[in-house]
Amino acid sequence: MTNCLECDQEIRVPNDAIDGEIITCGDCGSSFELQISEDGVVTLRQAETVGEDWGE
Ligand SMILES: [Zn+2]
Repeated sequence: MTNCLECDQEIRVPNDAIDGEIITCGDCGSSFELQISEDGVVTLRQAETVGEDWGE
């Protein structure tokens, strides 16, 4: 379990989640990239989906 960077809602991280997996906040719809360390600590990174290729 971790918290959304946008709206601070709790996001459930699946037990079989893998490093680099994209998860979406069910509350605000923001997407984040999971970073899972070797000791199992989960952090979120803002997924870089909004950018140069957007809207083309
Ligand atoms: Zn959110």
